This record gives sequence, C-alpha cells and structure tokens, in this order.
Amino acid sequence: MGKGFFNVPIAYNEPVKTYAPGSPERDAVLKAYKEMFKSKIDVPLYINGKHVSTGNTKTMSPPHDHKHIVGTYHLAEKSHVEAAISTALEARKTWSQMPWEQRAAIFLKAAELIAGPYRAKINAATMIAQSKTIHQAEIDAACEFVDFLRYNVQFMTDIYAEQPESTSDVWNRLEYRPLEGFTYAVTPFNFTAIAGNLPSCMALMGNVVVWKPSDSQIYSAKVIMDVFEEAGVPAGVINVVFGDPIMITNTVLSSPDFSGLHFTGSTFIFKELWKQIGNNIHNYKTYPRIVGETGGKDFVIAHKSANVKQVVTAIVRGAFEFQGQKCSAASRAYIPKSLWTDVKKQLIADVKSFKMGSPEDMGNFITAVIHEGSFDKLVKYIEQAKKDADAEIIIGGNYDKSKGYFIEPTVIVTTNPKYETMRTELFGPVITIYIYEDEAFSDTLKLVDETSEYALTGAVLATDRYAITEATTALQNSAGNFYINDKPTGAVVGQQPFGGARASGTNDKAGSAQNLLRWVSPRLIKETFITPTDYRYPFLGE
Ligand code: NAD
Repeated sequence: MGKGFFNVPIAYNEPVKTYAPGSPERDAVLKAYKEMFKSKIDVPLYINGKHVSTGNTKTMSPPHDHKHIVGTYHLAEKSHVEAAISTALEARKTWSQMPWEQRAAIFLKAAELIAGPYRAKINAATMIAQSKTIHQAEIDAACEFVDFLRYNVQFMTDIYAEQPESTSDVWNRLEYRPLEGFTYAVTPFNFTAIAGNLPSCMALMGNVVVWKPSDSQIYSAKVIMDVFEEAGVPAGVINVVFGDPIMITNTVLSSPDFSGLHFTGSTFIFKELWKQIGNNIHNYKTYPRIVGETGGKDFVIAHKSANVKQVVTAIVRGAFEFQGQKCSAASRAYIPKSLWTDVKKQLIADVKSFKMGSPEDMGNFITAVIHEGSFDKLVKYIEQAKKDADAEIIIGGNYDKSKGYFIEPTVIVTTNPKYETMRTELFGPVITIYIYEDEAFSDTLKLVDETSEYALTGAVLATDRYAITEATTALQNSAGNFYINDKPTGAVVGQQPFGGARASGTNDKAGSAQNLLRWVSPRLIKETFITPTDYRYPFLGE
C-alpha cells in the first residue's frame, strides 16, 4: 500500500467517434487499414516478456478476403505452455506484492494508449481480423476496451474500500489477495474488448495469467499485446499462447497451481472445460474459480401496442449488426398478427437497403462471417429452411464464399415456435420470426421462456405498461440483460453490466465489480490491541 489513500481518475465511457466522411478519424483508420492490409506481420508467443517464435506457423487472412494473407502466427508446443505457466508463477512473486496504484497506473495508461495513439491501429486490426465495419470496431476495440480498463480500476478501488466494522480495541481489515497460483483466460473471436479484458482484469487484481486467444482474433490480439507492453505490464504477468486448444487446455488444467478460468465462448466448450476441472479437482492446491460467459438465443417480443418502426429497427440492428455474431444478437422474434403486415414490409425494405462487402468500403453495413466453418454451418440451416414446410425465407437466403465468407442477412418466418432455428444458436445474420395471435401474449411469453436453453439477452417492445410489467415478470429468468423498448445488444461498461444465466454463463457480469470479486480471495486480518492474558471468562467466577 502506498502512503496515502489515492483517488483514481473518475471512470467515464469513451465517446464513440462518428467516422463521418471528411472526419480526421475516418482518414486515420483508412490509412492504417490500407497499410496493414498490404503488409504482413508475424505474431510470436509471449512468454516471460519474450517474443517466442516456434517456427511452426499458420497464416492469417481477413474473412472478407480469405485468399489474401496478412501474416502468420506461431503455434505453441506443450513445452511452451509449461514455460508460460512456470514464468507466470515466478512473476507472481513480485506482481502479487506490487502496490495496487502501480497496477492501476499500468492499465489506465493502456486505456489512454488505445483511446489515443493506438485507436486507428486497433480498429483497423479488428476490421481486418474480424471483418467489423468501422462503427462495430470503434464500439468494441476502442471504446468498450477503454471502458473496461478505466472502470475496472475504479471497481477495484471500490472493492478495496469495502471493509468490515471494527471496535476501539479490535481492528478488522480485509485484504483482497490475488488467487494463489495462476489463472487461465480463454477468449472468443468476436470482441477485441473481451479478448483484452479477460486477461487484463485478472492481472489488474494482482493475478498472473496464461491467455489463449481465438485463432480468428490473433491479428488484433497482437495489437492488445503491443499496448500492454507499452503500458508496462511486467514480464510473465500476461503470457500468450496460440495453437491446439485441447493440448493447451489439458496442459493448463493439469497443473496443480491452476486457480481460475475466465472463459468467453460457446456453451459446449465451457461445459467441457468445467467437466475437466471437476475431474482434476483432487489435484489442485485451491478450488479454482470458474467464470464463463457463453452462448445465447436472444429474443425480441413485440406487444400489439408496440410502435412498428421501433420493432423493425430493434430487429434489424439487433440481428444483423456484425452479421449477428454477438452473443447478444437478436435471433428469434415474436410478432403479433396485427402488426405483422407492416413489420414485414418495413423489415424487407430495410434488409434490401443493406450493402454488403469489405469493411474498407464504409458504405457497407454487412461484411463477412468469421470463417469457413461458420459459413458452412449457416448455409446448412438456410438450405434446410428452404426445404422445411414450416419455414419460409422472406428475405435473404443467398451466400457466396468465393472471395469472402458472405451470407446474405436472412429472415426466416416459421409457423412452428419450436422450429430448429428458434432454439439453436447459429451465430450469424439469420433471424427467425414466429407470428402469434394478439390475444396470446401471455402464452407467447411462456414460449419465449421455454424455447431455448439460453438466458442471455432479450427485449420487449410495447407502449402498454401492463404488457411491459407482465413481460418483465414472466421473463425474469429468460435473460440476464433485459431490454424494454430497445434492441437486445450494445451493453455499455459501467451502465449495463453484462451476462446471462442458464446455458449462457455463470452471470458474473463483465464490466462490474462482481466479476472482479471472482479474481480475489479475501484475507481477514483481526488485530487485537489489548490481548487477553487469562483464559477464565467472568462466568466461571465464584
Ligand atoms: P468458441 O467456443 O469456438 O471459442 C472460444 C475459445 O475457446 C477460443 O479461444 C477457442 O480456441 C477455445 N476453444 C475451442 N475449443 C476448445 C477446446 N476444446 N478446449 C479449450 N478451448 C477451446 O467460440 P467463438 O466462436 O470464438 O465465439 C462465439 C461464441 O462465444 C458464441 O457461442 C457466443 O455466444 C459466445 N460469446 C458469449 C459472450 C457472452 O458474454 N456471453 C460474449 C462473446 C461471445
């Protein structure tokens, strides 16, 4: 602890830049994009502050131009993962004792680097690696990441300030120790901010980390590591390994010093990791913390009192921005019959107006899906819908992977509320709509609640307060983030802590103090000023 109760800068949300034609930020990001697109980078492993080349490499390509190579990354062998673990444990000796304000300063500096000198680079990298439009890159890689870093520092000090009561002769102190051992961050492709937040928030709380990013996000993960290095994260605190996820995970989870998993990704993988941790439980020195944010099958339900334009906009933005590849993306909608004709007309008109192509052309609202596996999976569901009698594609349904993995935004209307694409997470630009009788609102709420295994996000649109109240109650356990008269995406750090329950995750709310609490193990220190000198209590007296 330093010699003072230091106040941290008050966190605020990084303002989202517009990238309107002629704006300096637009010029800067396009310049960075062009330069990065035509050059090639080589991404090493990061172990003990060293850049490790293994010689065993894979290439990286943008999803919207998959024959074009933008670089290579190095694959770890088991020995590299073991080295990452042992150097993390060595770094823990000093990092876990580092005064909190020094840790805070590093990550506050990282926030300012991203907000300023690295902004164009991290956005351009996210446009190239994950095929995000500039707006999607800006709200993720720049703003959300900066918000995580700033707010986490504030939340950390809020946690530290939480102290038990004391009396004049006993001073009780809570010390928020980092976990004993090392932690493991496994991150998804779809958010650069999540990739940066999972390892860094654990490190901020004094932990050491082995981080395994998604193969499809390594290009922008490299910029995150550039920032962490420049901000001064010491050697061995965050170690990065790429490669076979099964080998890496087996190596990590078989270490007796493994103390926590911070995962974001699909439900099945998370459950497998949980099972593996359970199987190893007798080997660990401490009970590992397990935090996972996983899949979703997020809903929009409109009441007959809803405004049609608002319903359509919630669907269009909620389902199709970033090609529906957000865990919170609207992927099933329930529309009352009386609104359907108008909703359908405007929905088709809106989807027809989308331009699709490379994010470099800023007129494009839709770009490519992340990789061939995702493309092929989406095509399978689209082709099945074309064949099924209880499904009809009213717009979209075409696809082309000759240059990039492009799937047309697709709207399926089904007469079967339990139709496959009403239940399964597709993770692409496909939404399925069920039309219900106006008077069946209550029954439809029940359907919404029971149709999928997930409970991440959902939205109700209505002007009738009784309908809003009924939906809020009936859907209490159907979503961890519930929206009234809005789209179900776009949670902002510090404003809407994010996460869901059921098969959607442990609901430890990324972007809140609740999440950070999982990465500390409090020690209570009781200090007694007048220490008893006789065991006999007064009641034992004559
Ligand atoms: P994914 O599950 O395919 O991959 C996530 C991570 O797990 C990657 O790093 C991957 O390499 C790793 N992985 C894959 N197989 C593994 C294995 N056998 N052992 C260990 N690690 C393994 O997910 P994705 O495609 O990158 O991301 C999309 C998924 O993430 C969707 O299901 C989405 O809903 C979910 N997601 C959830 C949230 C949330 O906050 N709830 C946020 C973003 C994404």
